[in-house]
Amino acid sequence: MGHIQLMSAALANQIAAGEVVVRPASCVKELIENSLDAGARAIQVHLREGGIAEIVVIDDGQGMDEQDAALAFRRHATSKVYEPRDLVRIRTLGFRGEALASIAAVARVRLTTRAVGAETAVRVAVDGGEMGPLEKVGAPVGTRIEVRDLFYNTPARLKYLRTVQTEQARSVEVVQQAALSRADVAFSCQTEHHILFQTPGNGDVRAVLAALYGVGEAKQMLDVHAASNDYRVYGVIGRPTQARSSRGYAHLFVNGRPIRHPGIHQAVVQGYQNRLMVGKHPMYALYIEMDPSLVDVNVHPHKAEVRFSEEPDVTRLVSQAVATALDGTLLAATVRTRQPQVTSVQPLALDWRGARDAQAAPARSSQTPVQSEKAVREGLTEVYRPNESASKSGFPGQAKDQVGDPLAHEEPGADVTNPHETIRDERPTEWSLRPIGQALGMYILADDGESLYIIDQHAAHERVLYEDFLQKLRDRGVFAMPLLAPLELTLPPVAFERAMEVQQELANMGLTYEPFGAQQVVVRAVPDIWQGLDVQRLAVEVFDDLKALQGDGVIEQMRLSVATRACKAAIKANWTLSQPEMEALCRSLVKCQDPFHCPHGRPIFVRMTNGELERAFRRIV
Ligand code: ADP
Ligand code: MG
Repeated sequence: MGHIQLMSAALANQIAAGEVVVRPASCVKELIENSLDAGARAIQVHLREGGIAEIVVIDDGQGMDEQDAALAFRRHATSKVYEPRDLVRIRTLGFRGEALASIAAVARVRLTTRAVGAETAVRVAVDGGEMGPLEKVGAPVGTRIEVRDLFYNTPARLKYLRTVQTEQARSVEVVQQAALSRADVAFSCQTEHHILFQTPGNGDVRAVLAALYGVGEAKQMLDVHAASNDYRVYGVIGRPTQARSSRGYAHLFVNGRPIRHPGIHQAVVQGYQNRLMVGKHPMYALYIEMDPSLVDVNVHPHKAEVRFSEEPDVTRLVSQAVATALDGTLLAATVRTRQPQVTSVQPLALDWRGARDAQAAPARSSQTPVQSEKAVREGLTEVYRPNESASKSGFPGQAKDQVGDPLAHEEPGADVTNPHETIRDERPTEWSLRPIGQALGMYILADDGESLYIIDQHAAHERVLYEDFLQKLRDRGVFAMPLLAPLELTLPPVAFERAMEVQQELANMGLTYEPFGAQQVVVRAVPDIWQGLDVQRLAVEVFDDLKALQGDGVIEQMRLSVATRACKAAIKANWTLSQPEMEALCRSLVKCQDPFHCPHGRPIFVRMTNGELERAFRRIV
């Protein structure tokens, strides 16, 4: 071993950069945070090759003077924390003074910045940590940082990067989250081919969602708000029909920071109360605000995770807020009379190198570009942009894969640029559905004076039975039905243990059993609502469900299990209904807590409003 030597600053920075800059997305995140800290009202992000070849972030913030520009790339150079006591009252997103030094250690960086009140801008280039001379140039107030050839001098890290598509998707996600976290700041995000989205920066979350996912999606979403003494929850959630197969459309912010929190996500899912189809995840942008002392944001160095001091209080409030929004809404999927049309792809010409041009004339169009969400997530390059005539004649920009629910298309004739014109559909307090007849042996046609409905009779019956069972279980209106021949069941270890713990609770629901040997139970009675059904199969399924019991509301979870299992077994497909049967079913259905979805989350209703019919028959234009 040789003698100890101090590392060069450049090498030390390169090593430390590993923690701050792991991929283009982390670089994008740091640069955006700096722009926000500088009070920017507009931030543009340009990505080339997913950010690997180039990331440019341009802001209109307070900028840096010559002296600051010279210091910005030094490790632990920060304008945000001067002494230890500053650390406890951090208001800015950054404070360690490491980001720029780290980025500059592993890329070729060029900074152009002009401070408020300064006559000219300064420009400085830093290449692999080596800073060049400061030059005076002309540029608007604000800061432009160009990061090229990320990891060009650390081949090991370069190799660790994924495909351009993946890196781009991650970078875009960072910009999306930033845009949602600060709806009051105008963001634009573009690649070398297209503008992916632009947000207006008017403080409206729905407008941000419209820019990210399309006006049609944003419009359908429901407002959420709730507050307790310590917490405030607000934002928007998707309808059950807008649920996605990935979790990428769920955005959570705590005190303005984007975070990931499985407990809160679960609380949102619980608020949907079985309205989500299996394997689908809700779409939402939810904001939780609280006294900073009630939350620890430093669990993870990248601050993506937090710990709440009173987590159950938070999750309860979130579930309630979500449930209230859904309960008050007529969640019937509405049939639209006009199909969306997709207009041609128009790539935007962008000047990648000319700092002044791009900054002086931010590439902005008068219309909001609407892109295929899949395209953005997967980093594909198609972008659909509405043109004049298209935006008047219907909804132009929706790619087929954009809509979770094929029926819920854009309201034709509506102003597609205004996401606030939400669909009017409060659930009436006194709702009466008049059945007209049966169609195709499977559907009931009904009318409530406002709309024409097509009801999936099978799903409707399932819902009615299900809520009926649940109500009986809650009211203790379920009795134990003794079995002539007791059932002997062998349970898996976890289920057996749970079964022993909840013996009394299940007995209250009519399921009585006792242990028999190490792993077996003898079932002596079952809930009377199981009468006529395959009780052995139902008992096995309910015991199996015990394995998944967790958290609060274990009793409610067991009731759900007993009821869902039973109603699934009770339903028989293909029945012909008499008029009185249809009337009875409709009467019971409208009284349900959630008449719009079967217990497995599938829709029960399809609605055609009177307005839609009038449009279809050309009575109105
Ligand atoms: P930190 O954000 O932790 O202070 P950074 O390395 O990210 O550290 O930035 C160093 C300093 O450079 C910041 O404290 C700030 O003074 C200045 N700075 C960086 N980016 C910008 C920007 N976009 N606008 C104005 N000042 C900036
Ligand atoms: Mg920073």
